[in-house]
Amino acid sequence: MIAILKPESRKEDIDNLIESLESNNVRVKPVNKSNSGALALIGDTKKIDTYRLEGSDIVEKIMHIKEPFKRSNRLVNPEDSIINVSGQTIGGKKIALIAGPCSVENEEQISSIAREVKNGGANFLRGGAFKPRTSPYTFQGLGTEGLELLKLARRQTGLPIVTELMSAKHIDKFVEDVDIIQVGSRNMQNFDLLKELGKIDKPILLKRGLSATIEEFLMAAEYVMAGGNEKVILCERGIRTFETYTRNTLDLSAIPAIKKLSHLPILVDPSHASGKAWMVDSLSKAAIVAGADGLIIEVHNNPEQAITDGHQSITPSSYKKLVGDLRVLAKAVGREI
Ligand code: PEP
Ligand code: MN
Repeated sequence: MIAILKPESRKEDIDNLIESLESNNVRVKPVNKSNSGALALIGDTKKIDTYRLEGSDIVEKIMHIKEPFKRSNRLVNPEDSIINVSGQTIGGKKIALIAGPCSVENEEQISSIAREVKNGGANFLRGGAFKPRTSPYTFQGLGTEGLELLKLARRQTGLPIVTELMSAKHIDKFVEDVDIIQVGSRNMQNFDLLKELGKIDKPILLKRGLSATIEEFLMAAEYVMAGGNEKVILCERGIRTFETYTRNTLDLSAIPAIKKLSHLPILVDPSHASGKAWMVDSLSKAAIVAGADGLIIEVHNNPEQAITDGHQSITPSSYKKLVGDLRVLAKAVGREI
């Protein structure tokens, strides 16, 4: 719920109110950084005597947040969240560009792609070390060796690294090694994993589940945030529909919907959404114009030989050209690259 404060309230009285609410297990957060006119009350709010609060000298009125997602709700934080990641930001005016191969394959591959995507304008490097594969008989990723190669590519280029975590048993290692921990679509509702990620201080890139509604998606973010980790970055990566021409159906409407409902940044992954390299260009452009805060794109220096997802990976030169075009579009919609 949101407590709208009376404009003449004294700071001392507000502080006392916050203290008494917090002692009752309610987390209190000013709604606006620049304005202490409203407080978001989150957590165990059932015990709050709203009539007493509304009758007090400080509170003008109480507004209930009807949506089940609270911490991620825009009502709690009307300004866009900006997440700081190792010297870069995600959210706000600047568009975040994450690029790299589906899987880390070997040193030569990840180092050269890292160099090339950096040259093309990317500000983060992606690459899977632990891969969620449909078949247990296919390549499962290089595991911890893949993490070492990503760290090497980071040292060589300075690009922060984004990679997928599949099991809670690797959390400590990821916290130490990685800049952004990705939770893949298949784990969007792995609630135990999400709860564990709520306990750490590391940005989480949460991908939309294969068939998740927008509310389910935001509730997954809520699991992480409820534990205290508010650094959640959402990613629309296409959802399963009756259409089979594309790998998934990119839900562009999720971008304005999430922007309206939540303060969290929303990225788009046109590679997994379409499953087709030739569609990445137009879907990326559409996503930026629709208001996405960034893109995560699969780039491979030899897509035909890629171990995973070569069919949807674009080349470094196509990536560079795309970023050039996006720069113009970003400017047209008041953003920057
Ligand atoms: C990936 O980004 O490597 C990936 C497997 O994506 P998703 O979880 O969206 O399928
Ligand atoms: Mn992939």
